[in-house]
Formats: sequence, C-alpha cells, structure tokens
Amino acid sequence: MIRPDHKEALSSPIFKIVSDAAHELGLTCYVIGGFVRDHFLDRGTPKDIDIVAVGNGIDLAEKVASRLQNKPQVSVFKNFGTAMIKHGNIELEFVGARKESYHRDSRKPVVEDGTLEDDQKRRDFTINALALSLNRGDYGNLLDPFDGMGDLEKKVIRTPLEPDITYSDDPLRMMRAIRFATQLNFEIELKSLQAITANKERIKIVSKERIVDELHKILASPKPSKGFALLHKTELLPFILPELIALQGIEEIEGQRHKDNFWHTLEVVDNIAETTDNLWLRWAALLHDIGKAPTKKFHKKIGWTFHGHEFVGSKMVYKLFKRLRMPLNDKMKYVQKMVLMSSRPQILSEDFVTDSAVRRLVFDAGEYVDDLMTLCEADITTKNPKRQKKYKNNFKLVRQKIVEVEERDHIRNFQPPISGEEIMETFSLKPSREIGIIKDAIKEAILEGEIPNEYDAAKKYMLKKGKELGL
Ligand code: ATP
Repeated sequence: MIRPDHKEALSSPIFKIVSDAAHELGLTCYVIGGFVRDHFLDRGTPKDIDIVAVGNGIDLAEKVASRLQNKPQVSVFKNFGTAMIKHGNIELEFVGARKESYHRDSRKPVVEDGTLEDDQKRRDFTINALALSLNRGDYGNLLDPFDGMGDLEKKVIRTPLEPDITYSDDPLRMMRAIRFATQLNFEIELKSLQAITANKERIKIVSKERIVDELHKILASPKPSKGFALLHKTELLPFILPELIALQGIEEIEGQRHKDNFWHTLEVVDNIAETTDNLWLRWAALLHDIGKAPTKKFHKKIGWTFHGHEFVGSKMVYKLFKRLRMPLNDKMKYVQKMVLMSSRPQILSEDFVTDSAVRRLVFDAGEYVDDLMTLCEADITTKNPKRQKKYKNNFKLVRQKIVEVEERDHIRNFQPPISGEEIMETFSLKPSREIGIIKDAIKEAILEGEIPNEYDAAKKYMLKKGKELGL
C-alpha cells in the first residue's frame, strides 16, 4: 500500500534541524533514496536516512551536529565526500550532489559536483531516486523526475537512465535489482532484464563480499525463490553459484526420471522461509542437495541414486564459502553439519523409530536437532497430498520421540557421566588407549539404551568393562 502524504515522512524533528542548518549555510538539501521509498511503501522504521546537499555534504553534516543537543561525532569519509552522524538508532548520511562517469574496468566512478537532478540520474532505480525537499520554499515537496511513484504503484524496478548503461557502469546494480524485486515482490521491467542478461559477465568486477551481501538479503526475503529464479533467468547464477545450476534438469533413462533438484531446492528454501528467520538455516536449505550433481548415478535395477551426496555436499559447502569469501567459522560448520545430516531424520521416519536411533540423532546433531528437523520438514515438496500428510506425520513422531528421549536421557549436550580422570584413578592407569575404549563403551551403552545416562549406572558399567579388559 502506498502512503500518499509526503509531509508525514518528515515528521521527525531532525528534518527541521537539517533544514535550518542548510538555510544557514545557504545551500539546498533533500532526503533521498531508501528512506523516501520505504516511507511510501510503509515499510516500518528506517535505519538510515540519506541526505543529499547541493553543495558540500560534509559542511552540512558538521553544521547539523553542532545544532544537535548531544553534539554527536561526525564521521567524515573524505575520499567519498560523505559524512555520517549517529542520531539515536538512525544513521544520517550526508553527501554532496554529484555527477558520475565510469571507466569500463571499475565500478568506481569519476565524480564531479552536480545538481539534484544529476544526482538523481546516478541512482540505480527510479524508486530509489525519489527526493523530498528540506528547503524553506518548498519543504516536503516530492521531486520525482523519473516517475518513481508510478513505479512504486506498479511495483516495477526500472532504471532512470538507459538500463544497458546503468548496469554496465556498475554491475552491482544487477544484484540490487534482483534483490529489491525479491524483497519488495516487484517485477523487473523487461528492458532491464534484457540488459542484465547482456551484461552478466560484468558481475566479475563486483567483489565477492558485495555479491554475498545481496545473496543474504535475497535469502532473508519472504520468498527467496523469486531472487534465485531471476538469477537463473538472467544467467547470472552460473557466475555466482554454479553448484546450484548443476542441479538443474531432469534426466530420463529407460523410462526412469529423477526430480529437478534445482527447482526442488528453491521450493525447500521458500518452505523454510515460512518457518524460520535463521539466515544460516536458510543457507543450509539452499545448499542441502548440492552434492547430488556429482554423485548422481543410474543403475539398471534401482534407477537413479545420489549415494553419499550429503557427505560430498558438506565438503562442497567449505569450497563454496571459501570461493565467495564467506566466513569459514562456526556458521560454515553449522551449514556443513545441516547438509551432512540432512537425510538422517528422513531415514528414521521411514522405519519403525527406535529409541536408540533417536538418541544417536540427538547426539550427532546436538543443540541443532530442532533446526535439522525444520530443514527436513521444509524438504517435503511432494504434490501428492496423501504422501505429504504421511511425511509430515512421520516427522511429528520423530519430534515427539526426541522430546521423550531427551527428557529421560539428556543426550543433547552430552557430557560423559564418568571423566577420563576417574577412569585413570580407578584402574591406576597412565594416559592410554584403554581410557578411550572405556569412555567410548560407556557412551555407546548409553546411546544404545543399555544403561541410563547417570553416574551410578555408568560407574558400574566402567568396572565391568575394566574387568573385561583385564585391568
Ligand atoms: P536498503 O537499506 O534496503 O539496502 P537503500 O535503498 O537504502 O536500501 P543503500 O545501499 O543504503 O540502499 O543505498 C542508498 C541509496 O543510494 C539508494 O536508495 C540509491 O538511491 C543509492 N544507491 C545505492 N547503491 C547504488 C548503486 N550501486 N548505484 C546507484 N545508486 C545506488
């Protein structure tokens, strides 16, 4: 829904302060970009406000800071001609209006001073070029030379200038177009889509970090599949996530087909987006089947198999994160773990569920067992209502079992009930292989349900095991 009132956007007292400061400096200034767009889209509290000054943006920032009661610090970025003030939870960004020209091999423009309209022309999309005046004569007026308001109404992503030039100048805009289309559920106009496809190779000059930033935002959207389908349609995806493209397609041999794992994956991502905001779990959903391309085989008797795809996939996660310069930390390990274990609950739910199998699942997944179940539930994409119900029910049972087993045995953050030291003391042992053997035997006995996860039972078991080993 689009809010019609321009003036309402400027109700915060900060705008009056900026306006007065500009008046004192004898320059004009405007609120521009995301803040204005999101106001008209009613997208909730803004996190930053971009102010463009026709004149020196840094001077304006300093004047504004001096007029604020708490005299905030001004962070100046001289190279970019920008300055930033933190005001409560909001960041106020100041920049001088500029004209830009580009070289072919870089997304960094040559910049010179310009008018408001020059500045609006350098913006990526018409909906991001909307400006509201902060000047005394026409305070609150909307300046919209490219009909950004019309595009907000029509839900269209369109560039102010010739799209071919806009995307070629700064190819990051290709990712931004797709990201905004996904976040806002807008359509990218045809000329833009064609220009993105024509310029796809230029994505190579965009840093991995910026690309990943956009991927995060696509994944965090309500329906991420829209973004990935657009990356596919514009042929950008092979440059970014070739592992996903490799999943695309259906092969048929001797009348046996397998499902298209690319489109299946996108469904899984949309499903999981309905139940969790955990970005890394969404990444896991996106990557859970990537091992299927290299492990795909056809066997005359059993048809298509993807043996070991979870293990292969989890190894690919590391390479993919490394290539995209994503953090190789606990987040990556979490995604690996989810991919590695992504079929475990399924196997469980197909069979009669034994307590020990559930205990092993909880032991291996640890604190992430709920996330793993969420992933598996999202993985149900069958269109057959009967089967869908059956699979969902099976997982419900597994979840119930997990709760029961957990209440009894506390396996989730398993701490051995008997320490290595106690084993050494009991049998007067120096650090040796036997200690590991006994510790492992106790753990196995607990997981198998032979003994409860308690000290006394474990001690008795340790003594028995020690005897067997002749200690
Ligand atoms: P969000 O905060 O959701 O990312 P935003 O529009 O505020 O949305 P920013 O990246 O903060 O995004 O950019 C602020 C404004 O700067 C944009 O609205 C747009 O006018 C302009 N802008 C940002 N990046 C580009 C770009 N690569 N090319 C042209 N204009 C850009």
